[in-house]
Amino acid sequence: NGLKMYFPIHAGVLRRHVGDVKAVDDVSFTIYEGETLGLVGESGCGKSTCGRAVLRLYDPTAGSIRIDGHEIGTLSQSQLRPKRPLMQMVFQDPQASLNSRMSVASIISEPLDEHTKMSREEKLARVYELMDAVGLNRDFANRYPHEFSGGQRQRIGIARALALNPKFIVCDEPIAALDVSIQAQVVNLLEDLQEKLGLTYLFISHDLSMVRHICDRVAVMYLGRIVELASRDALYEAPLHPYTEALLSAVPEADPDATEGKQRIILKGDVPSPANPPKGCNFCTRCPKVMEICKTVKPELKEHKPGHFAACHLL
Ligand code: SF4
Ligand code: MG
Repeated sequence: NGLKMYFPIHAGVLRRHVGDVKAVDDVSFTIYEGETLGLVGESGCGKSTCGRAVLRLYDPTAGSIRIDGHEIGTLSQSQLRPKRPLMQMVFQDPQASLNSRMSVASIISEPLDEHTKMSREEKLARVYELMDAVGLNRDFANRYPHEFSGGQRQRIGIARALALNPKFIVCDEPIAALDVSIQAQVVNLLEDLQEKLGLTYLFISHDLSMVRHICDRVAVMYLGRIVELASRDALYEAPLHPYTEALLSAVPEADPDATEGKQRIILKGDVPSPANPPKGCNFCTRCPKVMEICKTVKPELKEHKPGHFAACHLL
């Protein structure tokens, strides 16, 4: 609620604080138990930063973060330790997020070393169990990440994220670095695991077709703010915000008949810098429907239909 993540900009020899990059600027949303909330937007819109801030991988500049009703936004890192097992992250690039000098077994059991007092035998049994759960052959437990394909490496990353029985997982572009042919396998695995283990996901992606497939509700971010949030069907079938309309107009339809009459909306100009966002609506420099008021007054995210929120003066 009211989450802000600003990164200070320092300049000159005195390293004076000259401003802030407002990566996440007053964002509020709820994720319900067992659901998948998609967080979409172009690269640089703040969605990854938002996901990391929610997990307290950053100290938020302002705002409240509650998990199971408990405030974690203000906890110190040592106070957070007992909460860590509850919430985990699956990263975009399994290549970069796995230590290349550690065997698969040691990568997966690292969280167990850190957070449990399990014996070596117990840990190995748990590693095997996790490898089974993500569809990795147990015989490969002593191999190293480079011996695996991208899809298998992402399975290793998922097994590690599951090691401590989390309830909530932030998946940050979990398939973006994978070949298209194996993306569906990894997505299916995430869906199966969600059902079996009762997981809740925040699914960060710029792939709107994939998000439509996997998510129950979707939030659209632009320049550090949520501009629209709705159930999947409402968002894809009847978007309210001009930015969402533009994003969706660029998604190819599986059914060519549906593409007919659909006009692709080309946005002019570039996304402004998050260090210097527009005074009014963050989208006003590119919005095809911009009005005078948009240039001075920031629209708030309001509920326009049950469960359907948007931030736009047109509504
Ligand atoms: Fe466009 Fe104005 Fe709505 Fe912003 S508030 S999206 S500029 S119409
Ligand atoms: Mg990102």
